Amino acid sequence: MYKIAVLPGDGIGPEIVPEAVKVLELVSQKSGIKFLFQEALVGGAAIDACGQALPPETLQLCLESHAVLLGSIGGPQWDNLPHEQRPETAALLPLRKQLGLYANLRPVRVYDALIDASPLKREVVAGTDFVIVRELTGGLYFGPQKREKTPSGERAYDTMLYTKEEIERIVHLAFKVARGRRRRLTSVDKANVLVSSRLWRETVEELKTLYPEVEVEHMYVDNCAMQLVRRPAHFDVLVTENTFGDILSDLAAVLSGSIGMLPSASLGGKTALYEPIHGSAPDIAGQDKANPLATILSAAMMLRYSFGMERAGEVVEEAVLRVLDKGYRTPDIAAPGTTVVGTRKMGELVREELDRIWA
Ligand code: NAD
Repeated sequence: MYKIAVLPGDGIGPEIVPEAVKVLELVSQKSGIKFLFQEALVGGAAIDACGQALPPETLQLCLESHAVLLGSIGGPQWDNLPHEQRPETAALLPLRKQLGLYANLRPVRVYDALIDASPLKREVVAGTDFVIVRELTGGLYFGPQKREKTPSGERAYDTMLYTKEEIERIVHLAFKVARGRRRRLTSVDKANVLVSSRLWRETVEELKTLYPEVEVEHMYVDNCAMQLVRRPAHFDVLVTENTFGDILSDLAAVLSGSIGMLPSASLGGKTALYEPIHGSAPDIAGQDKANPLATILSAAMMLRYSFGMERAGEVVEEAVLRVLDKGYRTPDIAAPGTTVVGTRKMGELVREELDRIWA
């Protein structure tokens, strides 16, 4: 039996998370594998209830679970709190840290049915299906930094610091992800300028002998940004350090044209965290308009990466694809000639397809 901590959070979180939980319940019924769901407060909802964005009971529950399913957190009612008390800062960052999550996985897939939502031309973006593996706990955001006054004026610095061990663990993980996909790994760095990137590149070269079935290429980050918009279908798995990954993954998210479709996983410790990449969408909260598919696809990643249920993950993804192929859309991805449905109905349609596929 797997224990799943369920943290709906704020805004549309309490609408989209139950749809993903119901999908997991159906998977449990079909597979005979039991999931124990335990819900807890996080973010603004937790601040309102008990004054803390990440209450100790919530953290404890997460630490004792096999996986965490998170909706989204934050909203205008908490925007005026001091920075360190805001839901995102006070809940997400400590949660990632406490769970030891050093890898962020963001799949980007352009579905044929949604291809016209992409800002890129159909022929450029067709067939796009890749995963960005971003290092999450090292590099520029965590290295020594300082702002100081000197006799010649004020100055500030941040340091892109990586140990070989930090690079090895993320690169190993990326090779394993590539092994389960189309076996092509693009390692992204700036080795022509940065010494930390040279260590990164050498480490990838050393480790690739352990994964002979995976084809490796190295790409400079500036070129990679260009290639992601010129020929996104070229990529299978990209691995990169924290800052480069932060920027490239936002660039890549735009390719699909619909933020409500993109899932993510953060891995590293014994408990992994799964969440859609979008925020709490306060503008549509409580109106049954939110797209639950990114959260449902995050649950599919949970099946694959936390429970080793590869086939079940595929079935969930296939169910999503079929619902889109049949022309059903939430308002954010609606197009002329499609049938617009609400959050709950979209969840129900995915479960109906899943039921059919897994008869
Ligand atoms: P957002 O992602 O919440 O919304 C941006 C736009 O996309 C909005 O128009 C919204 O309606 C739409 N959208 C987002 N998700 C959707 C979905 N599933 N279905 C349909 N439409 C969807 O970003 P924002 O407006 O910049 O931020 C709102 C709040 O969310 C802020 O408080 C922000 O700090 C927080 N936030 C949280 C996370 C997180 O929990 N990891 C991430 C980003 C932003």
